[in-house]
Amino acid sequence: MNTIKKNQATLILIKPDGLKKSLTGNILTRMAETKLEIAAAKMVRVSEELAAEHYKHLKDKPFFDELIRYLRGELHDRKKVMAMVYWGEEAIKKVREMAGATNPEEADPVSIRGAYGRITTKGLYENVIHASSNEEEAKREIQLWFAPDEIIVDLYPAKTIVEKEYKRRVWDTSA
Ligand code: UDP
Ligand code: MG
Repeated sequence: MNTIKKNQATLILIKPDGLKKSLTGNILTRMAETKLEIAAAKMVRVSEELAAEHYKHLKDKPFFDELIRYLRGELHDRKKVMAMVYWGEEAIKKVREMAGATNPEEADPVSIRGAYGRITTKGLYENVIHASSNEEEAKREIQLWFAPDEIIVDLYPAKTIVEKEYKRRVWDTSA
């Protein structure tokens, strides 16, 4: 009997250590093994607010400030992350498995974190990528990092709003 598996979306971030170690191509190649679809991708300069919101479930941990500095690239001189939405059958589980355990020393050595992560002398897990761990978290995180039109699949309900004094930067073609 065939059980129909649900399509899911999940957020992946290549963290600043992953970028500094030139692992982008490698990570995308590993993720391709999952046969999932890339539904969105962009480079992001991470503000203090975005980092704190992303990791708000850890705000009482002693490593929280260092974790925010890590995600913002302050530990690696790379002030950006690559944010992606992967989409397809069992996406959350497949991506978490490929990522490996949170602690790189406990992660399967062939997982991304097991192969490339490390623990700093301060005790922070520099584990190369972020991956959402359940559907509720995936929804919250995807909505935090992406606007509806940046994703090529209609994942969640969206609406159109008209903003009166909306400021945005455009290309200066006269320059
Ligand atoms: N982290 C850490 N020490 C810990 C737990 C977490 O340095 O004891 C860091 C690590 O970079 C991890 C992030 O905080 O990826 C978020 O923690 P979470 O428990 O959500 O783990 P994840 O979902 O990333 O596996
Ligand atoms: Mg988590």
